[in-house]
Amino acid sequence: MADILYTYKNQVYANITNRCDCSCTFCIRSHGDGVGEAENLWFQKEPTLQEIKEAMDAFDFTGYEELVYCGYGEPTCALENLLASATYIKEKHPIKIRLNTNGLANLYHKRNIIPELAKVVDSVSISLNAPTAEKYQEVTRPQFANAFPEMLSFAKLAKEAFGHTQLSIVDVLPKEEIEACQKLADELGIYLRIRKYS
Ligand code: SF4
Repeated sequence: MADILYTYKNQVYANITNRCDCSCTFCIRSHGDGVGEAENLWFQKEPTLQEIKEAMDAFDFTGYEELVYCGYGEPTCALENLLASATYIKEKHPIKIRLNTNGLANLYHKRNIIPELAKVVDSVSISLNAPTAEKYQEVTRPQFANAFPEMLSFAKLAKEAFGHTQLSIVDVLPKEEIEACQKLADELGIYLRIRKYS
């Protein structure tokens, strides 16, 4: 069984699915099987809710203030298990929940799932990846033709629903694209985090 909970740089992460509706050119999944202390994040079979709960029961959350849903896949593709397991861990520990997402969940589920997420998720980080629809399609290769505007709509709704919402890009983008992403984030009134590529 692949690692469901793993730690990386003093942060604990939940890896609950390998499904994803994108195929990003930079996806860490194409660079190896693990991250941080996790040796293998590829599931032979997607974990059940029971298996996620068991992994949570077995993990010592002492000293961790936040659990981040972010693994070898898009967490919202396993929405039911995400919501149920986040609810479960919050009942057991005073822990905040962060969701790292591609922001395409409303397209994937064909409905606005933000009210459901907002019941258990405290903060959201959405991968912006590119400043234009054309670049976004090139880099993230999503299943949907209208992914970029829908991701931005998700970000706008998220900003109203969660305690903290941010957009993220990696620092390998050309300078002018980083500037364009910053301008876009500023227009949306959402903080832009520029992550180091690792
Ligand atoms: S959205 Fe995330 S998991 Fe999916 S392909 Fe892109 S980087 Fe990989």
